Amino acid sequence: MTDPNTIMLLVAGGRGLRAGGGLPKQYRKLAGRMVITRTLEAALAHDGVVQVQPVIHSDDEELFDKALACLPKDVTRRILRPVHGGASRSRSVHAGLRALEGHAPETVVLIHDAARPFLSAALLSRALEAGAKGAAIPVLPVTDTVKQLDAHGIITGTVDRSGLRTVQTPQVFPLAQIAEAHNLASAAGRDDFTDDASLFEWLGKPVRSFAGDPGNVKLTTEADFQMAELRLSAGARLTTRVATGYDVHAFGPGDHVTLCGVKVPHTMGVLAHSDGDVALHALCDAIFGVLGEGDIGQHFPPSDPQWRGASSDRFLAFACERLRARNGVIDHLDISIVCEKPKIGPHRDAMQQRVAQIAQVAPARVGLKATTSEKLGFTGRSEGLAALATVTVRLPDEG
Ligand code: MG
Repeated sequence: MTDPNTIMLLVAGGRGLRAGGGLPKQYRKLAGRMVITRTLEAALAHDGVVQVQPVIHSDDEELFDKALACLPKDVTRRILRPVHGGASRSRSVHAGLRALEGHAPETVVLIHDAARPFLSAALLSRALEAGAKGAAIPVLPVTDTVKQLDAHGIITGTVDRSGLRTVQTPQVFPLAQIAEAHNLASAAGRDDFTDDASLFEWLGKPVRSFAGDPGNVKLTTEADFQMAELRLSAGARLTTRVATGYDVHAFGPGDHVTLCGVKVPHTMGVLAHSDGDVALHALCDAIFGVLGEGDIGQHFPPSDPQWRGASSDRFLAFACERLRARNGVIDHLDISIVCEKPKIGPHRDAMQQRVAQIAQVAPARVGLKATTSEKLGFTGRSEGLAALATVTVRLPDEG
């Protein structure tokens, strides 16, 4: 059964620019997806982790919102409002713990670094099992020989590594105890601890260990990112999938239609709950088709008032993000628009550019065609307009 009082405190307040990319490393993209997004998804894929309390830098609000934008609602509703961290890791954790003050003292807190996105379900299960008995941390044996050096870099001895372990996160603690430890450390002016178990050691409290996961690496340098990219692409046998989408909207009163995210002046508008962009709706359905993840109406129900008048670029961005979440690659997006009017030609380049921009692909991967239906049928009578889309992607082979 799920323990209702298990919360992950996700430490994401660091500046971490060492890895390059001009962004704090937790917001850098890894195979098309932010590191922190991957970490959040990995954590919340485990139903033992009930909620996540993020601790972020005050400059990163916007980046953090972006990191959440692509996650499904059943995941984001388990993410608490982020709190702002302090100047050191220790102060950031302390800030996160203060935000959890109202929770039951027996709440189990998993403190995890946002820069460790390869958090496995097995490791989380081990953490939760060990954490039920008190403070515990994941450890790994030291496999390399360890040497002692003097100030000149001369070897002075070999360290017995049998009793040595390297340490990872998530580290797990009873909330009341780790909060008290951080309060005491703060009162003593100590904010130099590099992990949370160190505070327990400082207070003479026992900390258990459990088996860490060698794959649960912390991304720090550019080389770490390159290795991680390789790891995500290697071994993933990609297979091609093709799906189609179709959408229609009736003309109604108005002075423009939105097609491929571009506002096109017209003597009529369309009747729609959202902006009625038939091209993007057809494209979304084709993407949900290759994913086998339902259709646009399931993800964005017309009955939900929050999508009233919604700009459909959000729907497409979401569909593309779902594809990237499955480590899929877009090979081609093809759209045909069927209407007598308005004329598509003058807007074709802008539409192609806009679709490419929303889907984050090169414009050459977007095909855009328009046709009339020779005055036949509902499109011929200018009662409405239609769009067809075909999407070609490669997805990891799931058997
Ligand atoms: Mg539609």
